[in-house]
Amino acid sequence: MVYTFPVYGLIDENAYFYIDDKSSSGFLIDPGAEADKILALIKEKGWKIEKILITHGHFDHIGAAGKIREALGCPIVSHPTPEDYMANPYTNLSYYHGMTIELENIQPVSECSVISLEANKEFCLKVIETPGHTTDSIIYYSEKDALAFVGDTIFRGSVGRWDLPGGNLETLRRSIVKKIFTLPGETVLYSGHSEPTTVEEEAEKNAISFL
Ligand SMILES: [Zn+2]
Repeated sequence: MVYTFPVYGLIDENAYFYIDDKSSSGFLIDPGAEADKILALIKEKGWKIEKILITHGHFDHIGAAGKIREALGCPIVSHPTPEDYMANPYTNLSYYHGMTIELENIQPVSECSVISLEANKEFCLKVIETPGHTTDSIIYYSEKDALAFVGDTIFRGSVGRWDLPGGNLETLRRSIVKKIFTLPGETVLYSGHSEPTTVEEEAEKNAISFL
């Protein structure tokens, strides 16, 4: 089950819960802000969050991750690159918004890593590297549930910025065309800042075709 939880910080963002209905355990993806509200929801629902998964280390996707990790005692997962977004307030942009986000002790993943739930090993997400918005951008894909958490790589009708540290339009284009548009058409894409969409819809209408 996917549960969308919009959070309101300096930039509004979609945090997502991907929860196994059988065990009520699951993953929290991109907790950008409002740690207390997220923690209250987890408690209210009786979920056990095993891992915090990060699509890329921008402040509006990681702002609440440290506090939630501390409260739940679960690891934070991301794809490390030389820009070191998670620990660097300049590349994660928190510095420019009057904050200092420096997250250390990250559990690293890379292309083809599979993140399985302890409570149900069949419940898992595969990591696909999709640089372009940032160098550390990854998506978390479930073939079984036909869905992917895509961060800021692609939105409904548009794509993420490529003019921030580590961004590159040609790299972004390659990631979208070769890594996302090649997924099954019915795959639902859950992004950081738009309504959900599908691979089929974006392959037809997304702005990347005109950039
Ligand atoms: Zn971003």
